[in-house]
Amino acid sequence: MVIVMMPQATASDLAAVVARVESAGGEAFVSRGTSRTVVGLVGDIEQFGTLSLGALRGVAEVLRVSVPYKLISRQSHPERSVVRVGGVPIGPGAPTLIAGPCAVETPEQTLRAALMARAAGATVLRGGAFKPRTSPYAFQGLGEAGLKILADVRAETGLPVVTEVVDAHDVELVASYADMLQIGTRNAQNFALLQAVGDVGKPVMLKRGMSATVEEWLMAAEYIAQRGNLGIVLCERGIRTFETATRNTLDIAAVPVVQRLSHLPVVVDPSHSGGRRDLVLPLTRAALAVGADGVIVDVHPDPTTALCDGPQALVHEDLEELGATMRGGTSGQRRIPDEVAPSR
Ligand code: PEP
Ligand code: MN
Repeated sequence: MVIVMMPQATASDLAAVVARVESAGGEAFVSRGTSRTVVGLVGDIEQFGTLSLGALRGVAEVLRVSVPYKLISRQSHPERSVVRVGGVPIGPGAPTLIAGPCAVETPEQTLRAALMARAAGATVLRGGAFKPRTSPYAFQGLGEAGLKILADVRAETGLPVVTEVVDAHDVELVASYADMLQIGTRNAQNFALLQAVGDVGKPVMLKRGMSATVEEWLMAAEYIAQRGNLGIVLCERGIRTFETATRNTLDIAAVPVVQRLSHLPVVVDPSHSGGRRDLVLPLTRAALAVGADGVIVDVHPDPTTALCDGPQALVHEDLEELGATMRGGTSGQRRIPDEVAPSR
Protein backbone atom coordinates (compact mmCIF):
# COMPACT_ATOMS: atom_id res chain seq x y z
CA MET A 1 0.00 0.00 0.00
CA VAL A 2 1.20 3.50 -0.79
CA ILE A 3 0.00 6.81 0.61
CA VAL A 4 0.41 9.82 -1.66
CA MET A 5 0.66 13.09 0.26
CA MET A 6 -0.76 16.37 -1.04
CA PRO A 7 1.87 18.82 -2.30
CA GLN A 8 0.98 21.21 0.56
CA ALA A 9 1.13 18.52 3.30
CA THR A 10 3.22 19.63 6.28
CA ALA A 11 5.87 17.74 8.22
CA SER A 12 3.39 17.23 11.04
CA ASP A 13 0.78 15.81 8.60
CA LEU A 14 3.43 13.34 7.48
CA ALA A 15 4.42 12.50 11.04
CA ALA A 16 0.76 11.83 11.89
CA VAL A 17 0.48 9.37 8.97
CA VAL A 18 3.64 7.56 10.02
CA ALA A 19 2.45 7.42 13.66
CA ARG A 20 -0.94 6.00 12.66
CA VAL A 21 0.72 3.25 10.59
CA GLU A 22 3.20 2.41 13.34
CA SER A 23 0.42 2.30 15.95
CA ALA A 24 -1.02 -0.60 13.96
CA GLY A 25 2.32 -2.43 13.98
CA GLY A 26 3.17 -1.44 10.40
CA GLU A 27 6.26 0.19 8.94
CA ALA A 28 6.15 3.42 6.94
CA PHE A 29 8.86 4.43 4.46
CA VAL A 30 8.79 8.06 3.40
CA SER A 31 10.18 8.95 -0.04
CA ARG A 32 10.44 12.41 -1.50
CA GLY A 33 10.30 13.02 -5.23
CA THR A 34 10.52 16.32 -7.09
CA SER A 35 6.76 16.80 -7.13
CA ARG A 36 5.39 14.82 -4.22
CA THR A 37 6.03 12.74 -1.14
CA VAL A 38 4.84 9.16 -0.93
CA VAL A 39 4.77 6.77 2.01
CA GLY A 40 5.20 3.04 1.40
CA LEU A 41 3.50 0.81 3.95
CA VAL A 42 4.70 -2.62 4.97
CA GLY A 43 2.58 -4.79 7.25
CA ASP A 44 -0.93 -6.14 7.44
CA ILE A 45 -2.86 -4.56 4.56
CA GLU A 46 -6.24 -5.61 5.98
CA GLN A 47 -5.44 -3.79 9.20
CA PHE A 48 -4.29 -0.66 7.35
CA GLY A 49 -7.74 -0.66 5.75
CA THR A 50 -9.26 -0.02 9.19
CA LEU A 51 -7.08 3.00 9.97
CA SER A 52 -8.96 5.59 7.86
CA LEU A 53 -5.63 6.76 6.49
CA GLY A 54 -7.36 8.55 3.62
CA ALA A 55 -9.08 10.87 6.12
CA LEU A 56 -5.84 12.13 7.68
CA ARG A 57 -4.82 15.70 6.95
CA GLY A 58 -2.48 16.10 3.98
CA VAL A 59 -3.27 12.69 2.45
CA ALA A 60 -4.14 12.87 -1.25
CA GLU A 61 -4.63 9.18 -1.99
CA VAL A 62 -4.25 5.71 -0.53
CA LEU A 63 -3.33 3.20 -3.22
CA ARG A 64 -3.13 -0.56 -3.22
CA VAL A 65 -0.01 -1.45 -5.22
CA SER A 66 0.15 -5.03 -6.45
CA VAL A 67 3.79 -5.01 -7.60
CA PRO A 68 6.67 -5.54 -5.15
CA TYR A 69 8.52 -2.37 -6.22
CA LYS A 70 5.90 -0.09 -4.71
CA LEU A 71 7.47 3.34 -4.46
CA ILE A 72 8.88 3.40 -7.96
CA SER A 73 5.87 1.81 -9.67
CA ARG A 74 3.50 3.66 -11.93
CA GLN A 75 0.69 2.29 -9.80
CA SER A 76 1.82 4.63 -7.04
CA HIS A 77 2.79 7.49 -9.36
CA PRO A 78 1.00 7.34 -12.74
CA GLU A 79 2.85 10.29 -14.30
CA ARG A 80 6.44 9.69 -15.39
CA SER A 81 8.79 11.57 -13.10
CA VAL A 82 11.60 14.01 -13.77
CA VAL A 83 14.92 13.78 -11.90
CA ARG A 84 17.02 16.95 -11.66
CA VAL A 85 20.80 16.69 -11.78
CA GLY A 86 22.25 20.03 -10.87
CA GLY A 87 19.66 22.09 -12.73
CA VAL A 88 19.29 19.60 -15.57
CA PRO A 89 16.01 17.68 -15.91
CA ILE A 90 16.06 14.02 -16.95
CA GLY A 91 12.69 12.55 -17.82
CA PRO A 92 9.86 13.04 -20.28
CA GLY A 93 10.61 15.89 -22.68
CA ALA A 94 13.77 16.37 -24.70
CA PRO A 95 16.22 13.47 -24.23
CA THR A 96 19.30 14.32 -22.17
CA LEU A 97 22.81 13.76 -23.46
CA ILE A 98 25.26 12.70 -20.76
CA ALA A 99 28.84 12.40 -22.04
CA GLY A 100 32.40 12.27 -20.82
CA PRO A 101 35.37 10.00 -20.38
CA CYS A 102 34.94 6.47 -19.13
CA ALA A 103 37.67 7.22 -16.58
CA VAL A 104 39.11 10.47 -15.29
CA GLU A 105 42.80 10.22 -16.19
CA THR A 106 44.24 13.74 -16.06
CA PRO A 107 42.83 17.27 -15.63
CA GLU A 108 43.58 18.03 -19.30
CA GLN A 109 41.97 14.86 -20.66
CA THR A 110 38.86 15.39 -18.52
CA LEU A 111 38.51 19.05 -19.47
CA ARG A 112 38.99 18.33 -23.16
CA ALA A 113 36.41 15.55 -23.05
CA ALA A 114 33.99 17.81 -21.17
CA LEU A 115 34.40 20.65 -23.67
CA MET A 116 33.78 18.21 -26.53
CA ALA A 117 30.71 16.94 -24.69
CA ARG A 118 29.34 20.41 -24.03
CA ALA A 119 29.95 21.57 -27.60
CA ALA A 120 27.94 18.59 -28.85
CA GLY A 121 24.99 19.47 -26.62
CA ALA A 122 25.69 17.34 -23.55
CA THR A 123 24.23 18.84 -20.39
CA VAL A 124 25.68 16.39 -17.86
CA LEU A 125 29.31 15.22 -17.61
CA ARG A 126 30.15 11.60 -16.86
CA GLY A 127 33.54 10.34 -15.67
CA GLY A 128 34.73 7.55 -13.41
CA ALA A 129 37.08 8.19 -10.49
CA PHE A 130 36.47 4.80 -8.88
CA LYS A 131 36.55 2.23 -11.66
CA PRO A 132 35.13 -1.26 -11.04
CA ARG A 133 37.46 -3.19 -13.35
CA THR A 134 37.14 -6.84 -14.25
CA SER A 135 40.90 -7.25 -13.87
CA PRO A 136 42.65 -6.23 -10.65
CA TYR A 137 45.64 -5.25 -12.81
CA ALA A 138 43.66 -2.74 -14.88
CA PHE A 139 43.56 1.00 -14.07
CA GLN A 140 41.35 1.35 -11.02
CA GLY A 141 40.73 5.08 -11.27
CA LEU A 142 42.23 8.07 -9.48
CA GLY A 143 39.89 7.93 -6.49
CA GLU A 144 39.47 11.22 -4.64
CA ALA A 145 42.00 12.96 -6.89
CA GLY A 146 39.68 12.10 -9.79
CA LEU A 147 36.68 13.53 -7.94
CA LYS A 148 38.58 16.78 -7.46
CA ILE A 149 39.32 16.93 -11.18
CA LEU A 150 35.63 16.41 -11.93
CA ALA A 151 34.68 19.22 -9.53
CA ASP A 152 37.22 21.54 -11.18
CA VAL A 153 35.91 20.67 -14.64
CA ARG A 154 32.36 21.28 -13.47
CA ALA A 155 33.43 24.73 -12.24
CA GLU A 156 35.06 25.42 -15.60
CA THR A 157 32.28 24.11 -17.86
CA GLY A 158 29.13 24.44 -15.76
CA LEU A 159 28.25 20.79 -16.42
CA PRO A 160 26.88 18.82 -13.45
CA VAL A 161 28.75 15.57 -12.82
CA VAL A 162 27.70 11.93 -12.56
CA THR A 163 30.33 9.55 -11.23
CA GLU A 164 30.37 5.99 -9.95
CA VAL A 165 30.61 4.90 -6.34
CA VAL A 166 31.67 1.30 -5.78
CA ASP A 167 31.85 1.03 -1.99
CA ALA A 168 29.32 2.00 0.67
CA HIS A 169 32.15 3.54 2.71
CA ASP A 170 32.86 6.03 -0.08
CA VAL A 171 29.30 7.25 -0.58
CA GLU A 172 29.61 10.40 1.54
CA LEU A 173 32.92 11.26 -0.09
CA VAL A 174 31.64 10.81 -3.64
CA ALA A 175 28.41 12.64 -2.82
CA SER A 176 30.41 15.61 -1.56
CA TYR A 177 31.80 16.09 -5.09
CA ALA A 178 29.16 14.65 -7.43
CA ASP A 179 25.77 15.89 -8.59
CA MET A 180 24.57 12.34 -9.27
CA LEU A 181 25.94 9.03 -8.01
CA GLN A 182 26.26 6.15 -10.44
CA ILE A 183 25.78 2.53 -9.42
CA GLY A 184 27.44 0.33 -12.01
CA THR A 185 26.32 -2.98 -13.38
CA ARG A 186 28.68 -4.94 -11.14
CA ASN A 187 27.17 -3.40 -8.02
CA ALA A 188 23.59 -3.28 -9.19
CA GLN A 189 22.49 -5.73 -6.49
CA ASN A 190 24.89 -4.62 -3.77
CA PHE A 191 22.07 -3.88 -1.38
CA ALA A 192 24.19 -2.20 1.29
CA LEU A 193 25.53 0.19 -1.36
CA LEU A 194 22.03 0.84 -2.70
CA GLN A 195 20.80 1.68 0.79
CA ALA A 196 23.79 3.94 1.38
CA VAL A 197 23.12 5.95 -1.79
CA GLY A 198 19.45 6.05 -0.80
CA ASP A 199 20.42 7.61 2.51
CA VAL A 200 22.67 10.31 1.10
CA GLY A 201 19.88 12.05 -0.81
CA LYS A 202 21.67 12.87 -4.08
CA PRO A 203 20.20 11.70 -7.41
CA VAL A 204 21.32 8.21 -8.42
CA MET A 205 21.85 6.60 -11.81
CA LEU A 206 21.22 2.89 -11.38
CA LYS A 207 22.59 0.74 -14.13
CA ARG A 208 20.97 -2.57 -14.86
CA GLY A 209 22.84 -5.57 -13.51
CA MET A 210 24.38 -7.44 -16.42
CA SER A 211 22.33 -10.52 -15.56
CA ALA A 212 19.38 -8.84 -13.89
CA THR A 213 15.81 -9.31 -15.01
CA VAL A 214 13.70 -6.19 -15.30
CA GLU A 215 12.04 -7.08 -12.01
CA GLU A 216 15.38 -7.53 -10.24
CA TRP A 217 16.51 -4.17 -11.61
CA LEU A 218 13.35 -2.48 -10.38
CA MET A 219 13.68 -4.12 -6.96
CA ALA A 220 17.22 -2.74 -6.76
CA ALA A 221 15.80 0.74 -7.44
CA GLU A 222 13.21 0.14 -4.73
CA TYR A 223 16.07 -0.34 -2.23
CA ILE A 224 17.15 3.23 -2.97
CA ALA A 225 13.60 4.61 -2.90
CA GLN A 226 12.80 2.84 0.36
CA ARG A 227 15.54 4.90 2.04
CA GLY A 228 13.73 8.06 1.09
CA ASN A 229 15.34 8.87 -2.24
CA LEU A 230 13.14 8.91 -5.35
CA GLY A 231 15.71 10.77 -7.44
CA ILE A 232 16.62 7.67 -9.46
CA VAL A 233 17.43 7.39 -13.16
CA LEU A 234 17.51 3.84 -14.54
CA CYS A 235 20.14 3.00 -17.16
CA GLU A 236 19.89 0.09 -19.60
CA ARG A 237 23.50 -0.82 -20.46
CA GLY A 238 23.15 -4.20 -22.07
CA ILE A 239 22.88 -7.67 -20.61
CA ARG A 240 24.82 -10.92 -20.85
CA THR A 241 23.59 -13.23 -23.56
CA PHE A 242 25.15 -15.94 -25.72
CA GLU A 243 26.07 -13.27 -28.31
CA THR A 244 29.73 -12.29 -28.49
CA ALA A 245 29.70 -9.89 -31.47
CA THR A 246 28.93 -7.05 -29.11
CA ARG A 247 30.25 -6.43 -25.63
CA ASN A 248 26.75 -6.82 -24.18
CA THR A 249 23.32 -7.22 -25.75
CA LEU A 250 21.39 -3.96 -25.57
CA ASP A 251 17.92 -4.92 -24.37
CA ILE A 252 16.14 -2.14 -26.21
CA ALA A 253 12.69 -3.48 -25.35
CA ALA A 254 13.49 -2.97 -21.68
CA VAL A 255 13.17 0.79 -22.16
CA PRO A 256 9.43 0.92 -22.92
CA VAL A 257 8.80 -2.10 -20.69
CA VAL A 258 10.34 -0.34 -17.69
CA GLN A 259 8.71 2.98 -18.53
CA ARG A 260 5.34 1.27 -18.34
CA LEU A 261 6.13 -0.37 -14.99
CA SER A 262 7.96 2.47 -13.26
CA HIS A 263 7.62 6.24 -13.25
CA LEU A 264 11.41 6.67 -13.13
CA PRO A 265 13.30 8.04 -16.17
CA VAL A 266 15.16 5.46 -18.27
CA VAL A 267 18.34 6.24 -20.19
CA VAL A 268 20.48 4.03 -22.40
CA ASP A 269 24.25 3.52 -22.42
CA PRO A 270 25.09 2.69 -26.05
CA SER A 271 28.83 2.73 -25.27
CA HIS A 272 28.96 -0.04 -22.67
CA SER A 273 26.29 -2.09 -24.41
CA GLY A 274 27.85 -2.21 -27.86
CA GLY A 275 31.44 -1.81 -26.70
CA ARG A 276 32.35 -0.39 -30.13
CA ARG A 277 32.55 3.18 -31.36
CA ASP A 278 30.78 2.32 -34.64
CA LEU A 279 27.72 1.07 -32.77
CA VAL A 280 27.21 4.06 -30.51
CA LEU A 281 25.27 6.16 -33.02
CA PRO A 282 23.01 3.34 -34.31
CA LEU A 283 22.23 2.26 -30.76
CA THR A 284 21.52 5.87 -29.81
CA ARG A 285 19.04 6.09 -32.66
CA ALA A 286 17.40 2.91 -31.38
CA ALA A 287 17.25 4.37 -27.87
CA LEU A 288 15.61 7.56 -29.14
CA ALA A 289 13.18 5.59 -31.29
CA VAL A 290 11.87 3.63 -28.29
CA GLY A 291 11.52 6.77 -26.18
CA ALA A 292 14.56 6.68 -23.90
CA ASP A 293 14.87 9.75 -21.68
CA GLY A 294 18.52 10.18 -22.61
CA VAL A 295 21.79 8.47 -23.43
CA ILE A 296 25.10 8.31 -21.61
CA VAL A 297 28.16 7.96 -23.82
CA ASP A 298 31.93 7.63 -23.44
CA VAL A 299 34.05 10.37 -25.03
CA HIS A 300 37.84 10.70 -25.16
CA PRO A 301 40.05 13.33 -26.78
CA ASP A 302 42.46 10.56 -27.85
CA PRO A 303 40.95 7.09 -27.47
CA THR A 304 44.22 5.41 -28.51
CA THR A 305 45.71 6.47 -25.19
CA ALA A 306 42.60 5.84 -23.06
CA LEU A 307 43.24 3.90 -19.87
CA CYS A 308 39.77 2.40 -20.01
CA ASP A 309 37.32 1.50 -22.80
CA GLY A 310 39.10 3.38 -25.63
CA PRO A 311 37.50 1.25 -28.40
CA GLN A 312 34.04 2.53 -27.52
CA ALA A 313 34.95 6.18 -26.87
CA LEU A 314 33.59 8.72 -29.32
CA VAL A 315 35.90 11.27 -30.85
CA HIS A 316 34.99 14.77 -31.86
CA GLU A 317 33.11 14.23 -35.16
CA ASP A 318 31.21 11.20 -33.87
CA LEU A 319 30.03 13.15 -30.89
CA GLU A 320 28.95 16.12 -32.97
CA GLU A 321 26.86 13.82 -35.13
CA LEU A 322 25.40 12.11 -32.11
CA GLY A 323 24.49 15.48 -30.59
CA ALA A 324 22.79 16.54 -33.83
CA THR A 325 20.89 13.25 -33.93
CA MET A 326 19.72 13.83 -30.37
CA ARG A 327 18.41 17.24 -31.35
CA GLY A 328 16.64 15.68 -34.33
CA GLY A 329 18.74 17.68 -36.78
CA THR A 330 20.04 14.81 -38.90
CA SER A 331 18.80 11.53 -40.19
CA GLY A 332 22.07 10.12 -38.91
CA GLN A 333 22.65 8.29 -42.20
CA ARG A 334 26.38 8.11 -41.90
CA ARG A 335 29.00 5.77 -43.21
CA ILE A 336 29.69 3.11 -40.60
CA PRO A 337 33.39 3.51 -39.67
CA ASP A 338 35.83 0.66 -39.85
CA GLU A 339 35.22 -2.07 -37.37
CA VAL A 340 36.65 -1.78 -33.92
CA ALA A 341 37.30 -5.01 -32.07
CA PRO A 342 34.87 -5.59 -29.21
CA SER A 343 36.49 -4.92 -25.86
CA ARG A 344 35.81 -6.47 -22.49
C1 PEP B 1 30.74 3.01 -16.61
O1 PEP B 1 29.72 3.62 -16.99
O2 PEP B 1 31.83 3.58 -16.44
C2 PEP B 1 30.65 1.57 -16.33
C3 PEP B 1 31.63 0.93 -15.70
O3 PEP B 1 29.53 1.01 -16.81
P1 PEP B 1 28.85 -0.41 -16.45
O4 PEP B 1 28.70 -0.44 -14.97
O5 PEP B 1 27.54 -0.33 -17.19
O6 PEP B 1 29.74 -1.48 -16.99
MN1 MN C 1 33.70 2.14 -19.25
